[in-house]
Amino acid sequence: MQYYSTNRQVAPVSFKEAVIKGLPDDNGLFMPESIPQLPKSFFDSLSSLKLDEIGLEVATPLIEEDIPRQDLATIISETLNFDIPVKPVKDNIYALELFHGPTLAFKDVGARFLARCLSYFSKESDEKVTVIVATSGDTGSAVAHGFLGVENVDVVILYPKGKVSYLQEKQLTTLGQNITALEVEGNFDDCQRLVKTAFLDKELNKKMKLTSANSINIARLIPQSFYYFWAKAQLPEKDLVFSVPSGNYGNLTAGLLAKNMGLDIKGFVASSNINDIVPNYLASGNYEPTASKATISNAMDVGNPSNFYRLQELYGKSWDKITAEIKGYSFTDEETKKAMKEVFDETGYVMDPHGAVGYLGLKNYLLQNEKATGLFLETAHPAKFKDTVEEVIGAVTIPERLAKYADKEKKSRQITSDFEEFKNYLKTR
Ligand SMILES: *Cc1c(COP(=O)(O)O)cnc(C)c1O
Repeated sequence: MQYYSTNRQVAPVSFKEAVIKGLPDDNGLFMPESIPQLPKSFFDSLSSLKLDEIGLEVATPLIEEDIPRQDLATIISETLNFDIPVKPVKDNIYALELFHGPTLAFKDVGARFLARCLSYFSKESDEKVTVIVATSGDTGSAVAHGFLGVENVDVVILYPKGKVSYLQEKQLTTLGQNITALEVEGNFDDCQRLVKTAFLDKELNKKMKLTSANSINIARLIPQSFYYFWAKAQLPEKDLVFSVPSGNYGNLTAGLLAKNMGLDIKGFVASSNINDIVPNYLASGNYEPTASKATISNAMDVGNPSNFYRLQELYGKSWDKITAEIKGYSFTDEETKKAMKEVFDETGYVMDPHGAVGYLGLKNYLLQNEKATGLFLETAHPAKFKDTVEEVIGAVTIPERLAKYADKEKKSRQITSDFEEFKNYLKTR
């Protein structure tokens, strides 16, 4: 499989090159040249397959020219060494719990897969790779954790100062070794801009091998499609709708990829907080990126979602086709908290603020589609957002793998959102 750039100004490349480069030189996004159709036999046997077996069948046609199936199988089972349970919440609503990985957010899936692909490819050459990654909270720790101690890979994380939760920050800044955290005076969009600009900077790219671990990297996206198949395998007889609490729209795009590969999904809900650029686009046809606003679902505080162009690409840029399959809703922090409380009081189920936005989007969708069965993606463990969750429903238990970060000393370096300063830092470190 070759990967083309959505801007179409550069020639298609192999999976390997797409992963190492992260971003094509024409500032587009890599996409597979064609979407493979999975065979009927695969769908017939879906409900008897394990998660990693499903992953292997999905990934093989997309990747096997660059990573032979046997090695791919190893990478996938190492990536998915944790559960992704489907939990009934109420009536026809289920939660797809994506937070059982080491850093307690769904980002573990993409980041662990990407880290393993990059380290697989870096074994073929001795060159040192610097991974730069902007995070709105959860990506950074998932990436850092995925790469911790990996030879020939340095990781530089950029996160917006004061805009991530206490435990998120601890997860980012306490690892040490080959991981450096930069605390940027600005918001997530500033962090993302610094990373994107670095990739386009000729001088920097001559000096060092930079790669991206953001959801713009195709190796983050592909494994995220696995769990849509997996969820369907758990609820085979239902008409499924997925509600995806979204920020950069990587997770939703991965679901669209699954559908395009042949998975029977009735529809998608793009659920957002007040950073409602995509729901607005779905309503009006106009895509108007803006500065991001801070909310309690901070990992979704994105004003210019980088996967939007991939999403459009999958529908030939047709707004009519997009709106036929994707409904969009946005919610305020107050509505989000109210939903967390209501669901907890009614069912005992604890949602984190991101999952709660997904739940709300799903509820709205189901009002018009009563026969459908809905899954919302529960993208992070509620304990990651301890302050908010405790304010709304009372004490939450902190899992040990998260609690252990609390006492460690934060080590970060402050920078402004000025690109020259960031560039200088990269050049001289
Ligand atoms: C990153 C993140 C999201 C948003 O996912 P996208 O793929 O960027 O749309 C939602 N919830 C949590 C907890 C996240 O960390």
